[in-house]
Amino acid sequence: MAPVVLRTVAEVKAWTAGLRREGRRLALVPTMGYLHDGHLSLMREGRGRADVVATSIFVNPTQFGPREDLSRYPRDLSGDLAKCASAGVDVVFAPEDPNVMYPPGYQTYVEVTEVSQGMCGERRPGHFRGVAIIVTQLLCLFRPEVALFGEKDYQQLQVIKALNRDLHLGVDIVGMPTVREPDGLAMSSRNAYLSPEERQRALSLSRGLKAAQTLLKEGTREASALVGAVRRELEAAGLREDYVELVDAERLKPLAQVAPGQSARLLVAAFSGTTRLIDNMPLGG
Ligand code: AMP
Repeated sequence: MAPVVLRTVAEVKAWTAGLRREGRRLALVPTMGYLHDGHLSLMREGRGRADVVATSIFVNPTQFGPREDLSRYPRDLSGDLAKCASAGVDVVFAPEDPNVMYPPGYQTYVEVTEVSQGMCGERRPGHFRGVAIIVTQLLCLFRPEVALFGEKDYQQLQVIKALNRDLHLGVDIVGMPTVREPDGLAMSSRNAYLSPEERQRALSLSRGLKAAQTLLKEGTREASALVGAVRRELEAAGLREDYVELVDAERLKPLAQVAPGQSARLLVAAFSGTTRLIDNMPLGG
């Protein structure tokens, strides 16, 4: 069945009030649209965890830097609605323009001070401030029991877990594994920017992360060697590194090595042509 489309904050409030009267559990999946199977995996998981699934489709301007791709970010609302229907989504919140979320006089932000540091936080100043406020707005507006996010954006997931905990929002934040193309490329709306050749070269991100996982299994624990395995693949493919970092899986503090039994995460960002791609995989734990 086609999802109901809500366009305004007032419509969302009226709809969620109805849900609460009926005592139905809500799962929320926030997205920026141009949906792919990664997004749909979150929606399907939401279906299994709640009575009703809502998705938001909003290209959030506050999380884009001044020289980033806000104006050309891919959009396809009618295609997205068909995909939402196929994944069993009941309601899509698609604000018509940024003023719905940021009306004149808007002035409130949320700062997550620790896990926002480093990596994408350092390379994209203001990015996590924008992510934190839009997710806070959506969680406050919808008040879902469950909200689902992808591990593909691993640092973002930790930022959201922190704000949910620190602001006592009480939402069950569920992180879902990265969905990949058959050749290993992490699905992303931004893959649409890649030429066939840039897409081929972009496989070096997942290939490098896999090589590091293999090294760790063989007993190599030092960050320099694990990070080096990713760098070698990026270099061989001619990609420009933005960062490659080994961090502990929860607090995202840089690690010199993976201790036995420790949960670590290896994260990479790199440019294939002018397109910035990110990926990450677990190491140990
Ligand atoms: P976006 O539309 O890129 O803001 O992503 C919306 C949500 O989908 C975020 O929670 C992302 O982490 C998640 N997501 C994006 N790509 C993937 C993927 N390949 N696998 C799983 N989740 C993803």
